[in-house]
Amino acid sequence: MTSSSTDHTELPPAKVEKTDAEWREELSPAEYAVLREAATERPFVGELTDNHRVGVYSCRACGAELFRSTEKFDSHCGWPSFFSPLAGDAIIEREDNSLGAHRVEVLCANCHSHLGHVFAGEGYGTPTDLRYCINSISMTFDEAPAS
Ligand SMILES: [Zn+2]
Repeated sequence: MTSSSTDHTELPPAKVEKTDAEWREELSPAEYAVLREAATERPFVGELTDNHRVGVYSCRACGAELFRSTEKFDSHCGWPSFFSPLAGDAIIEREDNSLGAHRVEVLCANCHSHLGHVFAGEGYGTPTDLRYCINSISMTFDEAPAS
């Protein structure tokens, strides 16, 4: 399946740039399909979906910190959901009109890998009423040291 995610012309430059061959070397086929080809992981299979530990979620492709456990909430949609990114410039939000739907794609600002989508106004009762619906496979989790 082709995807608009390979067209980076309208985005600010990524700090981490690699060739497709380099990404394929570093990522598993499943990780590559989501991160670099904007595939969507099946719901309810990701190991981080129901993770409630305290810590930080980072981009699996480049290691940039993206989300914190304090902004994670239980959306029951089958994917890890956050109501806010760790920092506004950690991610890029881009219009996505693929699959005949209007959505907003979420990319890692550091390496332009595909993370998921963000949805607004669903009434989850979070402070932002946003749901950053992120593929579990797009992230790694680092538990915060107990203090
Ligand atoms: Zn990244």
